[in-house]
Amino acid sequence: MSTTPTTALEAILCIPPLHLHIKEEATLAALRLRAYGLWKDTNIGHTRILSKEINKCPQLDWICDKTRKHYVLDRHYKVAAEGGKTDKADTVVIEVYTDGSKTNSGTGAGIYCPELNINIAQPLGKNNSVFQAECVGITTAVIAMLNRKVKGFSININSDSQAVLKALTKHTTTSKLILDCHKALQALSKSNRVTLKWIRGHNGNRGNDAADELARQAASLRVAGPEPIIPIPFTEYKTWLHNQTQTSHSVLWSKTKECKHTKEAVPVLNPRLTTKLLQLNRPKLRTVVGMITGHCPLNKHLSILGITDSPLCRACMETEETPIHVMLQCNGVADKRAAHLGSSATLHEALGDLGGLLSFWSELGWLE
Ligand SMILES: [Zn+2]
Repeated sequence: MSTTPTTALEAILCIPPLHLHIKEEATLAALRLRAYGLWKDTNIGHTRILSKEINKCPQLDWICDKTRKHYVLDRHYKVAAEGGKTDKADTVVIEVYTDGSKTNSGTGAGIYCPELNINIAQPLGKNNSVFQAECVGITTAVIAMLNRKVKGFSININSDSQAVLKALTKHTTTSKLILDCHKALQALSKSNRVTLKWIRGHNGNRGNDAADELARQAASLRVAGPEPIIPIPFTEYKTWLHNQTQTSHSVLWSKTKECKHTKEAVPVLNPRLTTKLLQLNRPKLRTVVGMITGHCPLNKHLSILGITDSPLCRACMETEETPIHVMLQCNGVADKRAAHLGSSATLHEALGDLGGLLSFWSELGWLE
């Protein structure tokens, strides 16, 4: 109903109020500008937004992978898709395998090369992505070969990450890690013939399996020193900020003195309820929202609107006809209530999985 308060609807649907949403977007814009090196904190007015948010969420101060667009115009190494013909090499071929892994405990990269005796399990932070781990895997492998002064070989670097290989074929990048990887590959290509090859993961290839195992070991290792070990993906900022907005929304909801009816049904923000509500069709959604907010065509609300004369319950004529009365207390509909809703003590309990509530009201037929 058009009288339903916005605050109540925002709480039911877990949509942050406009002022919180705008703050989140503005902080994100500031973080983006900072990543591009364009942010100036003058400590006056709106530029204080970042320091305020970092106070609340210190991770926002972590360096991120996003950078200004860089052009990659020369490339001395090759990137080959699976099945691509390998050059008939007149030199010895070295096969290197790299892989990345992410588990609940962290991310890690694995590098394996039997010819050069390279077995590296490199743990990365908890907040990094698989893409980043795969990318760092290749960079680490290249640096290990540079340190061993490998010269005059054909080197095949095998990775199962199509995304990273694709990023390395592009002419622009906004990722620091991809840029580092490119620079390392250029250095190795000066005195070697380097090819990046895509191989299907978990396909019985011994080298890939060994790299995968190393990456998984690395992901479960604890990293030395504080996070972040490598720059975090920009999307992490988004997740943190969004969680923070939701927390602020919860606090706001718990403090509000309005929407008493809604607060009885939804005492704390409940994303699971929101998901269930959004799966309902419009008439059902209208019923449930009416029950939660009290803004529905029952006598109490209709009499406030001046549509009926009496706010009294049509079943018992004893007290006001509100959703709380009908669903929890009214003796006039006790049998039907017991059949559909059981014996709920609170409005929150009566919501249940919404099925009982909907069948109860459709049997009563009072809302039509
Ligand atoms: Zn009654």
